[in-house]
Amino acid sequence: MANKEKHVTLDDLCRTVQSYFPEAQIDRIKKAYAFADNAHKGQLRSSGDPYIIHPLEVAYTLAEMKMDIASIITALLHDTVEDTDVSSADITKEFGADVAALVDGVTKLSQITFRTTEEKQAENFRKMIIAMAKDIRVILVKLADRLNNMRTLDFLPEEKQRIIAQETLDIYAPIANRLGMGWIKIELEDLCLRHLHRDAYVRLTERISKKKKERDAYIESLCVTFNEKLKEYDMNAQVSGRAKHFYSIYKKIERRSVDFDQINDIIAFRIIVDNITECYKALGVIHALFLPVPGRFKDYIAMPKANNYQSLHTTVIGPEGERVEIQIRTQEMHQVAERGIAAHWQYKEGKFESKSRENTEWVTRLLEWQKDLSDPNEFLETVKIDLFAEDVFIFTPTGEVKQLPFGSTPLDFAFAVHTDVGNKCVGAKVNGKQVPLKHRLKSGDTVEIITSPNQQPSKDWLKIVKSSRAKAKIRAFIKTQERDRAMEIGTELVDKELKKYELSPSKIEKSGQLIKVAQDLSLRTVEELRVSVGYGRVSLSDIISRLLTKEEIDKRLVALHQPETPKPEVGFLKKMFKHATKPRESKTAIKVANLNDVLIRFAKCCNPLPGDSIVGFITRGRGVTIHSGNCPKAIDTDQERKIDVQWNIHPNSQFRHQVRIRILSTDEPGLLAMLSQTISHSNINITSANVRVTKDKKAVAIFEVEVTDLSQLHKVMSALEAKKGVISVERTRN
Ligand code: MN
Repeated sequence: MANKEKHVTLDDLCRTVQSYFPEAQIDRIKKAYAFADNAHKGQLRSSGDPYIIHPLEVAYTLAEMKMDIASIITALLHDTVEDTDVSSADITKEFGADVAALVDGVTKLSQITFRTTEEKQAENFRKMIIAMAKDIRVILVKLADRLNNMRTLDFLPEEKQRIIAQETLDIYAPIANRLGMGWIKIELEDLCLRHLHRDAYVRLTERISKKKKERDAYIESLCVTFNEKLKEYDMNAQVSGRAKHFYSIYKKIERRSVDFDQINDIIAFRIIVDNITECYKALGVIHALFLPVPGRFKDYIAMPKANNYQSLHTTVIGPEGERVEIQIRTQEMHQVAERGIAAHWQYKEGKFESKSRENTEWVTRLLEWQKDLSDPNEFLETVKIDLFAEDVFIFTPTGEVKQLPFGSTPLDFAFAVHTDVGNKCVGAKVNGKQVPLKHRLKSGDTVEIITSPNQQPSKDWLKIVKSSRAKAKIRAFIKTQERDRAMEIGTELVDKELKKYELSPSKIEKSGQLIKVAQDLSLRTVEELRVSVGYGRVSLSDIISRLLTKEEIDKRLVALHQPETPKPEVGFLKKMFKHATKPRESKTAIKVANLNDVLIRFAKCCNPLPGDSIVGFITRGRGVTIHSGNCPKAIDTDQERKIDVQWNIHPNSQFRHQVRIRILSTDEPGLLAMLSQTISHSNINITSANVRVTKDKKAVAIFEVEVTDLSQLHKVMSALEAKKGVISVERTRN
């Protein structure tokens, strides 16, 4: 391929292009060269050569691959946008939108780096590169670029050599293989071996060259044998043999600890014949000549590899009892094996054509990375990617790649990382910048998720997420949460209703009566019965009517109407509140500027809480009155009497502040009890409660509660808000 010692010239490039494309517009290539040369003026490569040598050699490699003019020009310009003042708009102006899009594609690929040795991640990364490239020519330019970088790697510091070589081995050599570009894959792998395992590489070179004479003689004699035999059967075949590439020998030695001195094991023979029939005919001739090794025959003609590779492979026992590997193929198959997808840009009737239908098939197969496509749906999904618009590939901060559907948001990404990360996600940073949860991610973005232990999924999230995984996880969370709530409410309602009819909930359950009721209502468990009551699917009378006869119900109801208070629920509340303590005021709760031992009191109108902004006003004979900062009364008060005040609360302070909470809800039985339970579960005392029902059948509950500070209040308010039936919760002043 390219001459490694002497640099190629613009003339070499033009001549090569004209050799396969006589009508090529050489002027455009020359113009691109001049443009790039000017843009890179003054820049040097690590080797000390002028920079332009690099894009020129990349372009030459593409010419060797017989690529179209747009690819050649792209190769010449591929580093200008990244490394010089040239903009994408400049390229559009000078060379058209087509070339500009290709250059942009190469630039984007250059900006991402891969840093993990995990195979699954490497796989995602390779997919990402294909998906981001959008046009397969971008990848071909990138491969030629990488090949040139690998060829000139010696000039970089050793550490950098290793990083680039590892990335090439993990990402680019497999991509070249996928694209069927055998020679690029082989050269990349050998160069990687040289930089990653230099000792092994040197040893291999030495030993291969030491036995060169012997090996050449062996190859020559077998070629003659094959040729003579094939001629006997009227076949005109080209037979050749050569040492396999270093990297494959290296892997073979690693894998099977093969004795290196068995030189035959490192040689592969190739027989090229005129047509497919002759391939099988030649195989028969070879197998008649030498005994085939069982299990080693592979028919890649009938079943081509994913990268379109076709050949017959066989191993036979040679004249000296050694194993001999042989590939048999047609000239056409040989072309595909060497040039791969590049063979699809064909020079036809004076212009280039990409055989687009075949191209799509290529890409489809190209993207079938996973060998374990057992699930047909998964297979379909994989095929879909060839439209290039279906997926985005996102980095975690540690460099892992996640594949998400197009339009995905940080929430999708969070759920892709872990369900807990998704459930607790409050925000995200994309490429270091904070973004809203509904932000749309792009391939190549690095996303860092911000979580909070207080966060939980909400129904609104379903409108934000795109991935089915995130949707399923959010739905599951909401369902569990609603069920828990229904269970809680249902349990309370059922127990209360039973007690109302002088039935003991625990006895009814233990005796098996409740499970009978459940089964009668086509429910499997008592728990499901309670949940159903909570959801309102089963009414309380459905239960009672199955436990008591009509007469018993009437009898017990009469007894029920005897109590002195007409509102049994309030009575229930009062019982709960009887342990409420009176608020105690403490001087230490407030620090008044420069004054000790000042009598303070909290204004009744606004009742500020630790955490609220506050102002103090000196009141004659009554010390200092504390208002909240936004209290209208405080604003009206004579500002001359204003004094600086601050909260002075000990973390463990037992001090309680009285606050009033107003809850608007639907009028449902048991609701008030449920609300007050919610409050007392938060360790908050209720000092009074008041309920009334409005004309439109809503319930307004006013609770006076004692809280330590603002955060405790907010916590209980959001707990109340979350309850079924609650419409609004607010803190009211006076
Ligand atoms: Mn480059």
